[in-house]
Amino acid sequence: MSPTELAAIEHNTQRIVYWNVGHSITHIMYPMAALAVIIFAYGMYKRYKMWRLAKREDNRFTDLPDRMEGLFEAVFMHKKILTRKYAGIMHITIFFGFMMMLLGTALTTIESDTPATFLNGTFYLIFSITLDAFAILILVGSFMAFYRRKALKPFFLKTDGDDWYALSFLVISVLLGFSIEAIRIAITNPSFGKISFVGWILAQGIKVFNPSVPFLSSLHKGLWYLHFGTTMFFIASIPYTKFLHIITGPLNIFFKRRTPMGRLRKIDLENIDEDTRFGVSDIQDLSWKDALDLDACIECGRCEELCPAFNTDKPLSPKKLMNTLRDHMEDEAKGLNKANGTELVEMRVTESVLWSCTTCGACMVACPMEIAHVDKIVDMRRYLVLGQGKVEPEPAAAIKKMRKQGNPWGLPQNERAEWLKDIENPPLLDENPDIEFDYLIWIGSMGSYDNRTQKVAKAFLKILQHANIKYALLGTLEKASGDAVRRIGAEDAFQELAMHNIKQLDKFGLNNKNGNTGKMVVAISPHSYNAIKNEYSDFGGDYEVIHHSELLNQLISSGRLKLTKDFDKKITYHDSCYLGRYNGVYEAPRDILTSIPGVELLEMEHNHDKSFCCGAGGGRMWMEEPLGTRINLKRTDEAIEVGCDIVATGCPFCMTMIDDGVKARNEEDNIKVLDLSEIVAENLGLITIK
Ligand code: SF4
Ligand code: SF4
Repeated sequence: MSPTELAAIEHNTQRIVYWNVGHSITHIMYPMAALAVIIFAYGMYKRYKMWRLAKREDNRFTDLPDRMEGLFEAVFMHKKILTRKYAGIMHITIFFGFMMMLLGTALTTIESDTPATFLNGTFYLIFSITLDAFAILILVGSFMAFYRRKALKPFFLKTDGDDWYALSFLVISVLLGFSIEAIRIAITNPSFGKISFVGWILAQGIKVFNPSVPFLSSLHKGLWYLHFGTTMFFIASIPYTKFLHIITGPLNIFFKRRTPMGRLRKIDLENIDEDTRFGVSDIQDLSWKDALDLDACIECGRCEELCPAFNTDKPLSPKKLMNTLRDHMEDEAKGLNKANGTELVEMRVTESVLWSCTTCGACMVACPMEIAHVDKIVDMRRYLVLGQGKVEPEPAAAIKKMRKQGNPWGLPQNERAEWLKDIENPPLLDENPDIEFDYLIWIGSMGSYDNRTQKVAKAFLKILQHANIKYALLGTLEKASGDAVRRIGAEDAFQELAMHNIKQLDKFGLNNKNGNTGKMVVAISPHSYNAIKNEYSDFGGDYEVIHHSELLNQLISSGRLKLTKDFDKKITYHDSCYLGRYNGVYEAPRDILTSIPGVELLEMEHNHDKSFCCGAGGGRMWMEEPLGTRINLKRTDEAIEVGCDIVATGCPFCMTMIDDGVKARNEEDNIKVLDLSEIVAENLGLITIK
């Protein structure tokens, strides 16, 4: 088109509202719209009333600017959704197409039923072309969704009638819109018709058949009514169908946790009486945010994709668990649970479901709706352990021993530093409280009593001595961090351990609550690291905590450790869930490995935040694994597949599990499982790896 033609078009261009149906349609349209809104509002009110069944207090009205920013990133930038490329592109096309249709409808309504006039001239041309383009996006996204569900069929994605309803509505709605536009263009033949490019192309197709104007006019009216009817049906259906997530999704994301993911809710054990309810045994024990979580689930199945329990045939599916809780909440609202005598824990959610969880956090990291699965699982475990005294013999014994001796084996506390006897003058604070230090090395129970982890701890201390680092150890003053017992559900045991350890750390001036002390805790285990860093603060312990891989990496990058020896090995690094997913430490371990000459770093199929758990978290280190296949074998198979000589770890639990896996697969002659400290110490000539 020439500029002159465009100028002429612009002059005559305007929106003809209610063309062919007449303005009197508003006498039916607005009452119908009001009815749809009433049905919508009633549905939302019922959901809201249901959320109020959850009685536990939870203040999520803090950090409002940060919450807005998080919402913007999640909704308008699709930050998390786009971490899965296909599904992300699919959703973003539908989302922005849908938003533009909403905006278009709102502007048209304002233009037609208020004194405002703005749908004319250049703005109208841009409006028309934009709406056509975005409507096409909805079709593209919907086609991708159909293809994904019918052809690609990812194992975690199940499709039911609700999904087909949602997709069909989108496609039908857009096709109706294009058809109405095409007929209007075919009849009126406006000079600017080409701008509505989809309608114009379809209009040319209609003209080929040369239909009569009265016929087209009637067809247009019929389709217009149908389009309006489906739109009203859609509005009314939102609270009763999958479209509910349009409301609950953004709400849930806005109110998502702002505390560290690795910090579980503290139970106030100082003020308990006979009415105190431990953990979650019913809907009333949840918070309103938990209830909103349940209604926000869109059943996308992302949480199942990397769930170690689900992928090794355990009875736990994080998605099904959320849906079961939602069903229970709905039945509670209808009074059915009372009538049928249905209880949540043990009847609807079985013990084996709850004990299958490793608390690896893969579900929470993957969930686009920011649902907190682990918190609910641990809360139901708390009910079993604290409320009912129901816990399997092995974890029960571990809890008892940790309370009594501060370690899961019940070995004497005064033998906690025995492993140091072949180290010359270890800087033990229990023997010499006046030692000056910059770093307090947290050895953990595994490092103190487990032969294999002791080697790791020794290698690490040798490196520190080699680099002239001023460090100290608590020795017999240290007890288990309490991570495992807390995740098993024994909050009382955790709090006892935490209070003991905080007292010791404070005694040696590590608490930053009155200003930075300049001292750091360096944890060998990511589980201790997470507990001390993220959980002790609820009990008055404010510490600077780093993982030993972070300190090693700092020493290497600052030149205090020089790794010069060639090490021609293929190494794959296994991300510990509590280091990576929970605390975002992904690169320090990898940087250590790539700084060694000759090392070839290989990534397993699942790595970084999409890593696959070793199976030992959540207290499962102290439990048998009688159901399904073994989680550690699945992870070990990935390491074998990648063709590595060494699996590097930064966690004593992961090391034990993968070591067991390598032995079970008879690969111990080909693959070694080593801690990062051992690899570094070997390179420095401080230890020999056999
Ligand atoms: S819990 Fe989250 S990830 Fe899992 S199905 Fe629901 S929305 Fe998807
Ligand atoms: S935390 Fe891990 S094991 Fe537990 S439900 Fe989530 S993905 Fe599964």
